[in-house]
Amino acid sequence: MLPAALRFALLASLCWAATAWGQPEGRTAPTRPEGNGAPVPARPASLPGIRLGPVEYVAMQDVATLVRMKTAWQEKERRLTLFDAGTRAEFEAGSREVSLNGLRLFLGMPALLHNGTFYVSQIDFERMLLAQLRPALLAAPPPRPRVIAIDPGHGGTDNGMENKKLGLKEKILTLDVALRLQRLLVARGFKVVLTRTEDRQLAPDKPTDFQRRDEIANRAGSDLLVSIHFNSLYPDTKTTGTESYVFTRQFQRSDRAWGALEKDDTEREAAPVNRYDAWSALLRENLQREVLGSLKTVDRGQKTMHSLVLKGLACPGVLVESVFLSNDAEANRAAAEAGRQQIAEAIARGISAYADTVAALQPKPPAATVPSSSHP
Ligand SMILES: [Zn+2]
Repeated sequence: MLPAALRFALLASLCWAATAWGQPEGRTAPTRPEGNGAPVPARPASLPGIRLGPVEYVAMQDVATLVRMKTAWQEKERRLTLFDAGTRAEFEAGSREVSLNGLRLFLGMPALLHNGTFYVSQIDFERMLLAQLRPALLAAPPPRPRVIAIDPGHGGTDNGMENKKLGLKEKILTLDVALRLQRLLVARGFKVVLTRTEDRQLAPDKPTDFQRRDEIANRAGSDLLVSIHFNSLYPDTKTTGTESYVFTRQFQRSDRAWGALEKDDTEREAAPVNRYDAWSALLRENLQREVLGSLKTVDRGQKTMHSLVLKGLACPGVLVESVFLSNDAEANRAAAEAGRQQIAEAIARGISAYADTVAALQPKPPAATVPSSSHP
């Protein structure tokens, strides 16, 4: 447990960080009033907590106080739960995996038990968990999403994953789901931009190419992007399930890079889309929940990757891998029109749920002044 003064400073600075880091580009952080003489940190990097090696951590007890939740040990000094009436997040010391309202979520750094105190990394808390636990604490939310970018993965000479036995190409299926999703979103009142509407190749890796998917989304003033993909693990044909990705947070490695023999792929430079980390995490949760709820697939978790499609976005972005084409049972679902419609409807519901959450966070307009009666 930290001394009281330090704990206050931590909470004050976490509030400050939530304000400063949760903002879309182009807005400046409001001047925070001095509170009880607590110093205002010059930079989020100066947040108190504890530093172990290169990683800054915050105590779960302080997180709980900030988000107004309780904590309880499930197994003393191993599994800790953060909860209130509507939310339950289960953490395990030494593990990156979290169960948040029954959904699997992966931290960028394992949770840590140190001298009897349970910690999560500051980056995970500020850029992901806070948005998913208490989005109202992220000040200055982006406006309610109006323009939605849909990216049908692959195209042209890039077939994406294939199930040759069933004659399936990922690029064909992603475009079909995208066109279905477009119709659903337009019917819900959104403006929709597709990164491609036909079977053609886009240039994913040319820095200034106007055919880049993120550039197309940015030029249209998109409020969010959803990239549609199908998974594959050949020669493994057994694995099934749904996973969804945001761009990896700065100073953390991607989920894949935690695998045995994988190289550390930490990026020291922030990508443009990292400005929206918190909102991307919130969007990802909504998409994962709706797709899992609809398809009843295995939950493979909310993850991160260094995706070039997401990297340059000037808005939140999520990549969804709904089912595995390398598993025949799941591939057959994607092959069926009804299956693709089901995926599109689940994604549309996830986008709507995210949009409703963001809309509910908008600052309330000042109450209209009622003119005084002109009657004598
Ligand atoms: Zn793909």
